[in-house]
Amino acid sequence: MEYRLTLDYALSAGRLAPWIAALRRGEASGLSCDHCGKVRFPPTRCCECGSRHARWVTLPGTATIVERSDGGDLSLALARFDGAESLATVRLQDIKSATDRGYLAAVADGPPALVLVPKPKDETP
Ligand SMILES: [Zn+2]
Repeated sequence: MEYRLTLDYALSAGRLAPWIAALRRGEASGLSCDHCGKVRFPPTRCCECGSRHARWVTLPGTATIVERSDGGDLSLALARFDGAESLATVRLQDIKSATDRGYLAAVADGPPALVLVPKPKDETP
């Protein structure tokens, strides 16, 4: 069955502009709650403690893969970025199934995306 769906839309980055700009550079920016100190990555409007007051913090960009799902040409995972309490859904790029660590990759074009790769962005293969 062939199915093609095309949607044209434009979304403002709004309050997520710092997060999206960091993703373009391959950097992880999380929100640290001013009330309880927990760090959310990806950022959410409200902390689990109920506070909406938070500040941006830079995380190392490394993550532990908690659970993964491998398909034919796509691997996805739940991962916890170092320095954050929350889990993030990520795409795995060239990360072998025996590996549980990854580095955030810069995604310069297209919609912002969370992609983990096996090596840091400035390390040669
Ligand atoms: Zn909180």
